[in-house]
Amino acid sequence: MTPPRIDLRSDTVTQPTPAMREAMARAHVGDDVFGEDPTVNQLEAMAAAMFDKEAGLLVSSGTQGNLVSLLAHCQRGDEVIMGHNSHTYNYEQVGTAVLGGIAPRIVMNQPDGILRLEDIEAAIMPDNVHFGITRAISLENTHNRCGGAFLTPEYTDAVAALAQRYGLKLHIDGARIFNAAIAQEVDVKALTRHADSVTFCLSKGLSAPVGSVVVGSRAFIKRARRARKMLGGGMRQAGVIAAAGIVALTEMIDRLREDHANARRLANGLSRIPGIQPEPVHTNIVYFHVDHPRFNARTLQKALLAEDVGVLALGPGRIRAVTHYGIEAEDIEETLDIFASLLQ
Ligand SMILES: *Cc1c(COP(=O)(O)O)cnc(C)c1O
Repeated sequence: MTPPRIDLRSDTVTQPTPAMREAMARAHVGDDVFGEDPTVNQLEAMAAAMFDKEAGLLVSSGTQGNLVSLLAHCQRGDEVIMGHNSHTYNYEQVGTAVLGGIAPRIVMNQPDGILRLEDIEAAIMPDNVHFGITRAISLENTHNRCGGAFLTPEYTDAVAALAQRYGLKLHIDGARIFNAAIAQEVDVKALTRHADSVTFCLSKGLSAPVGSVVVGSRAFIKRARRARKMLGGGMRQAGVIAAAGIVALTEMIDRLREDHANARRLANGLSRIPGIQPEPVHTNIVYFHVDHPRFNARTLQKALLAEDVGVLALGPGRIRAVTHYGIEAEDIEETLDIFASLLQ
């Protein structure tokens, strides 16, 4: 299987940059399970500093980052409040429950990705022998299934204050937190200042080939590191991966605004094509609805693939397209021409 030439299925399809390949080839490495990989240590310290947290931990994926974070915060029988549309609830095999005995307590996401404060508060279990123990709240920023919407610093602070009032931990699944920061012209610190833990992906819009980083307090990272080892995530000479991550954090954040501009360009163009209704665009993710006499989401996905354009059909009438490094404005124009010729 070869990928489509214009691949809008996901920002995980990004190729490492030439600078990343160079850095990987030259990386100084050691045994990271012994704490002796200088490049991993450098990446972890760099990430911690960027988020104003005490420590960082390189993990294999965003899924592993969320899992080790919740394993570090919770005991068996605990509950974590999360959104019904969250990635952690929908796309991570509920690993917290399977591997940690930690139950998700579901709250409805609003269309803009938030969980209403009153809904969160209602989901916190009272101290009663019938109930599990609420231990943590997990937010997602940007919100994948809610159209790439971002959470604001004010909203996140309000959830953190609620968490603090009830003695709960706040975890942020920030797989695309740098997209959230760029879209609002704020520092990631402002989006995470009162969070106990944050996971972010190096391997999505930041274009590194592998890896995510978890940041938090030193004591939390120590527990997360134990959880990572238990899950088989001790990666030895992982500096080869970390080297690309350092390039990602140094060179690839500011250019995310190009992805956001291309996403808006795509949605604007799609809004003029009969039978296509784009949802509001917030960052680099474009969802659109297909209501056309000759196509549904799945058949349109197939027809686009035949023209070498990749998108993801995520329901009978809903399709996702994601912009990223390697997708230029001309690719968006070409994609729009293909849509027009197929649908008009
Ligand atoms: C992609 C993603 C993850 C998981 O990351 P992987 O590296 O694919 O495991 C977690 N949360 C969100 C919101 C994501 O988009």
